[in-house]
Amino acid sequence: MLSYRHAYHAGSHADVLKHLVLMLCMQHMNSKDKPYTVIDTHAGAGLYVLDSEQAKRTGEFINGIGRLWPRTDLPAPLAQFMTSIKALNQSGQLRRYPGSPWLIDHLARPIDRLRFCELHPTDFALLRRQYKEAGRRVMVAQADGFEVLKASLPPPSRRALVLIDPSYEIKSDYLKVVAATKDGLKRFATGTLLVWHPLMPLIEANQLPDKLKKSGATHWVHATLSVCATSTQGRGMHGSGMFIINPPWTLAAELKATLPYLAQTLGLDSHASWKVDEIEQKALKPG
Ligand code: SAM
Repeated sequence: MLSYRHAYHAGSHADVLKHLVLMLCMQHMNSKDKPYTVIDTHAGAGLYVLDSEQAKRTGEFINGIGRLWPRTDLPAPLAQFMTSIKALNQSGQLRRYPGSPWLIDHLARPIDRLRFCELHPTDFALLRRQYKEAGRRVMVAQADGFEVLKASLPPPSRRALVLIDPSYEIKSDYLKVVAATKDGLKRFATGTLLVWHPLMPLIEANQLPDKLKKSGATHWVHATLSVCATSTQGRGMHGSGMFIINPPWTLAAELKATLPYLAQTLGLDSHASWKVDEIEQKALKPG
């Protein structure tokens, strides 16, 4: 039985990094007229209320989106991200924070196709309720996102963005993410794949980025944001990373211009740091 509920963590520093990258990738997808498909393999509840019992219990959003909300000096990508957050909070008070499905739906166009998978019965019910009237553009499934991904690639649109965002509450998720990435690239080499991962003192978590680098991708960006010293959180998470395969060509530069601000603003101690790596291998010429 799954126990993880994203409502406890919505709006944290990890969500900010993940959703910023998601927004930048979707903006790039929108720069071409052709429709695309978004597959969110681990969708969560879709939208979160920040004065809920769960959000208040951890208070994680306070040191995430809560620190950015009042700022008037946001770098351009974060200012654009804040436009979406403001659209959800038109009263002028920060009360709601988007899950990835809300953000995807908000940024995608009527011609694009959205596929959201969620296994937890309570979060699935919340998600389904939001898209009850959405028609064929949005498909919501209470299904294993890794399996749906296999069945969905290549998409009929021949353009796809995939968000793989497990909770890693079960260690086998680390292996499944690598397998899904390799398989996804075999089925659809040009798809844009976004993998979120935690930074924490756990061997599986430490090894994941290197395994993704060897997954067959020829072009990737890896961005990490650490908000405190490893030891501060004990065995918990001190930051997170996004591994993006087939990224927009502008992404690494945008993140390099934005992550220093995020590390400074969301940092909990002087060890807060950021990193952006990029590799683009040229295809070997035959003969
Ligand atoms: N992507 C969401 C967002 O950014 O708002 C957060 C997702 S949360 C980190 C991970 C979610 O995956 C949880 O709601 C969990 O119930 C769900 N989940 C776990 N295993 C799954 C699987 N194999 N397929 C689909 N959903 C799964």
